[in-house]
Parts: sequence; C-alpha cells; structure tokens
Amino acid sequence: MMLKKYSLMMGMSLCASLSFAANCSTDLKGTDKMSFTDKKGKTVSQIIVPASCTTFKINLEHNGEMSVKQMGHNIVISKASDVASVVKDGRQHKEHDYVNPNDSRVIAYSKMIGGGQKTSVEFPVAKIKAGGYKFFCSFPMHSVRMSGDLIVK
Ligand code: ZN
Repeated sequence: MMLKKYSLMMGMSLCASLSFAANCSTDLKGTDKMSFTDKKGKTVSQIIVPASCTTFKINLEHNGEMSVKQMGHNIVISKASDVASVVKDGRQHKEHDYVNPNDSRVIAYSKMIGGGQKTSVEFPVAKIKAGGYKFFCSFPMHSVRMSGDLIVK
C-alpha cells in the first residue's frame, strides 16, 4: 500500500514537471580553478536555451574562496566572433565588471563576483535566436577556459 502511494506521488510530480513550460533558466558555478561547472562539478561548455522561452536567465554562484580581484567571474553574452574584442575592451573597464558599458556587441552581462557570491543575467531569447552566441567570463584571460555556446532549440 505504501509503495503504491509512493509511485502515485512520483507519477504526479512527473506529470507536473512535464506540463510546465520549458525551463527558462539554468544554474552555473564559478570555481577557483577558472571554470564554469554544473552543480556536480562538470565543466559546462554549452547551454541549451529553449526556443519557447521569451527570456532566459543564467544564475551564477562562485563556489570558490578567492576574491573578486584574484578570481572574479561574471557572465557576458555576445556573438562568438565578438568575444575576443569584447574581452579586450573590457580590460579598460575594470571598475565596471570588465565590461564596456557602452558596448553594443554585449547582449547582456552580470556583475563580477568573488568566492561565496551570487549573481545572474537575463536576456531576451529573440536576441540570440540567430545562433552563434556565447556566454563567457570577461575577467582578463578567463574567457579562454570560461566560455561556452548558447544553443537555441
Ligand atoms: Zn572569471
């Protein structure tokens, strides 16, 4: 009897999650080892963005211990072909999260955080629907390892 009740509950929660709209957010961890990982510690090199979402949100938690000055992380969204130049320009804007606030190539960006801090970035899915967009950290040198593809499906 107990078992039956349990499986019924499982079935119900499965239905609930299936009938829900697509998940329009994801969680990333930023580490002291200069990487974006999922909650299990696996490196994240792509994020699937459901085409049915109007906006998509990426939550970032820095689960390391290093300060924002040593190992700062943020999330910036731009075209893959613009990543290098966005990062280069961002170096002149250290006090502004290493992002040029007037950079029209930047679709969206979060603030720069250090160990133990959290931030998030949200952007309209329509802006990246054409494909070829990336998420990355604009801290100097970090985008080499901390970047990945945004894939609208
Ligand atoms: Zn970083």
